[in-house]
Amino acid sequence: SAHDHADLLDDLNPAQRAAVEHQGRPLLVVAGAGSGKTRVLTRRIAYLLAARDVHPGQIMAITFTNKAAAEMRERVADLVGRRAGPMWVSTFHSMCVRLLRREAKTLEMTSNFSIYDADDSRRLMTLVGRDLDLDPKRYSARALATHVSNWKNELIDPDAAAQAAASDFDRKAAEAYREYQRRLVQAGAMDFDDLIMRTVELFQAFPDVAEHYRRRFRHVLVDEYQDTNHAQYTLVRELVGTEPTESGPAPSELCVVGDADQSIYAFRGATIRNIEEFERDFPNARSILLEQNYRSTQTILSAANAVIARNSGRRDKRLWTDAGDGERIVGYVADNEHDEAAFVAGEIDALADRGEAKYSDVAVFYRTNNQSRVFEEIFIRLGLPYRVVGGVRFYERKEVRDALAYLRVLSNPEDTVSLRRILNVPKRGIGDRAEAVVATHAERERISFAAALRDAVDGRVPLLNPRSQKAITAFVELVDGLRELVDEGTDVADVLEAVLDRTGYRAELEESRDPQDATRLENLDELVTVAREFTEFAQTVQAESAGQDGDDAGETVDDLDEDVGVPEPGSLPAFLERVSLVADADSIPSPDGGEDGEDGEDGDDDQGVVTLMTVHTAKGLEYPVVFCTGWEDGVFPHLRALGEPKELAEERRLAYVAITRAQRRLYVSRALVRTAWGQPMSNPASRFLDEIPEELVDWRRQEPTRQARSPREATTWGRRPGTGSDSAQAGLAAGGMRTTSFQGFSAPRRGDAWKNTVALKLDVGDRVNHDKYGLGTVVATEGAGPRATATIDFGSAGTVRLMLIGSVPMVKL
Ligand code: ATP
Ligand code: MG
Repeated sequence: SAHDHADLLDDLNPAQRAAVEHQGRPLLVVAGAGSGKTRVLTRRIAYLLAARDVHPGQIMAITFTNKAAAEMRERVADLVGRRAGPMWVSTFHSMCVRLLRREAKTLEMTSNFSIYDADDSRRLMTLVGRDLDLDPKRYSARALATHVSNWKNELIDPDAAAQAAASDFDRKAAEAYREYQRRLVQAGAMDFDDLIMRTVELFQAFPDVAEHYRRRFRHVLVDEYQDTNHAQYTLVRELVGTEPTESGPAPSELCVVGDADQSIYAFRGATIRNIEEFERDFPNARSILLEQNYRSTQTILSAANAVIARNSGRRDKRLWTDAGDGERIVGYVADNEHDEAAFVAGEIDALADRGEAKYSDVAVFYRTNNQSRVFEEIFIRLGLPYRVVGGVRFYERKEVRDALAYLRVLSNPEDTVSLRRILNVPKRGIGDRAEAVVATHAERERISFAAALRDAVDGRVPLLNPRSQKAITAFVELVDGLRELVDEGTDVADVLEAVLDRTGYRAELEESRDPQDATRLENLDELVTVAREFTEFAQTVQAESAGQDGDDAGETVDDLDEDVGVPEPGSLPAFLERVSLVADADSIPSPDGGEDGEDGEDGDDDQGVVTLMTVHTAKGLEYPVVFCTGWEDGVFPHLRALGEPKELAEERRLAYVAITRAQRRLYVSRALVRTAWGQPMSNPASRFLDEIPEELVDWRRQEPTRQARSPREATTWGRRPGTGSDSAQAGLAAGGMRTTSFQGFSAPRRGDAWKNTVALKLDVGDRVNHDKYGLGTVVATEGAGPRATATIDFGSAGTVRLMLIGSVPMVKL
């Protein structure tokens, strides 16, 4: 009714209201943090349903994480109730899985396809590299996988990749790409990038399929649009259509919201380009700017504005708030990371004591996951309830992956990577040689690895010794037996229990005296619990929907073939899909994609728990009290970004995201000395700290109580170029002018850079890339073994003599 719609518009400002009411041509809402973009999107959905008679089944809303999807669903359900049911609110990946399962036949593939995550695809790439005889030093599986992923994000197929290849590395990588792709298809598997790319292919190769979904989804809405990559952008464009076709429907209504200043996934191929592409492909689009911030105090906003203003080439935005100045930002310089954590814990306690914040109001941010450990230790000691979002991800633990690999093989017998993972886990006498013999047989006969195993059972694999043949036979029988359970419709949790028992996996851990194995057992129990809850959840949902069938009958839209392609609720494929997709962007180990909410009710006295997370994970969220920790050059901004203008700009956007999560109180802290990878290191203040106007910050402590410097520091790092850190800073800024991109090498990530724990072998004339000083040329070397040093000319960053043993943050090019 008219009254309802007024309610939906009441608490919006005029620009927000315009965005909610807008009809017809594509709509782009670009606006700063906390200006209500997500609110506009949610409200728009509610408005479509209430005021424009749109059926929920015609709505497709895309968010960046499962958590965000769950929240949006909830918010819409709050506004419109049950009717929200058949709406699609999901991440790009979930949406594509759904579409691909529906259209599996069109693409001539199994609808039970496995989804390979980064680790699986690296394993597959290792096999590919081995079979193509690629030197793993030059062509690491990781570098190849990154290369392939970049191609897929650009929608470049193996042919195009081969054609465009300009270097040796590119040519080999393109070859690996082709083989990798062939094996994915053979294994009935897709990696994360495939999910997007294959859906685009589907739409482009089968216009009638595209048209079908265009007819179905008349409204497409995308949140966090700045973080979509080219493939995702193209998918959206295909989904809505750009112009009316003769037979088909008019383009669907498109609404995207985002903030270019919060683009923090450039490493996944997301660029500002998607906003430019949008304006090019939809020249008649309407743009709406939101300028009022409803989240933070003016002090917090001013800090955020000052930091982001240093990025060049951005469209200036004026964010304002009428919330008042609020408290000043609290700054703290700690002696070391333990001192920093103690400060944070103390402040949280004080806030709670004074009744100024509950634990659940507080978030602690850090740049990388490994920084959480120190906080956890202190929080545990002080009894502060907390939870870590992300961290050592549950689904990345070996035992969990092993168990899931069994389940995947049961669901998709052709899944080679999973099959080979569990072939000899736990050990059952199928050694590397036997595996290699079977793999060779598969290659020669051009059959899958699974089929080759069956050949082995039948004695048709030459060169296989009888003992291995026996072991393989036992393995195949074991798997067949387990698969029978699945076919009989056994609950996932019970199948999992059977896997752990019959394979002897559990017994082996139980017999071990290694305390780590006790933890592994707990994790497996946790996985069983996850499966159990999953089944129960599916059963309640089924029971509920059986009870309400009558209500919805009148609302069915034509061709709302809802159940096609969706695995049966509670089934093994449904479980595996849930687990694979949860493990992607948000990583909260719960069966429902992390709907446990921000205020985790499991703490004491309704206080909830403190949330610890990386800044990346915090995107889109808000907390009354935020601690930004580890603001040191080399930590945040990250080491690899120093001297890399593009990466530095991305780190600055990340800092902007961090600051703008805070509603009332913001803390920033750094440590003078921090132990990283076993070495105490002294880091200068983050340049972002210096960029916050001084008058906004109340420094609780700026001077260290004692000189907490490590004597080792000077030799580990070499002497800074110039005399003081100021000139080092200046040198690095100037260094930003040089080209430091590596064709044929993936940009050095932390993992690569720190790998050199043994001496780097360098000769005069060698080119290197140092994480701090950038590109350089070796001008002299001295000493040997642990005493080896090199003098390196880093151009405008100076000439530096460095020890070559220990964790040298430098790679040889
Ligand atoms: P981000 O860029 O961080 O994703 P956003 O632009 O999506 O932020 P929202 O999360 O939608 O912003 O809104 C920020 C906060 O402001 C939320 O708490 C929201 O409820 C509130 N808010 C937004 N618009 C209004 C309004 N017109 N009146 C009152 N509160 C509002
Ligand atoms: Mg948002």
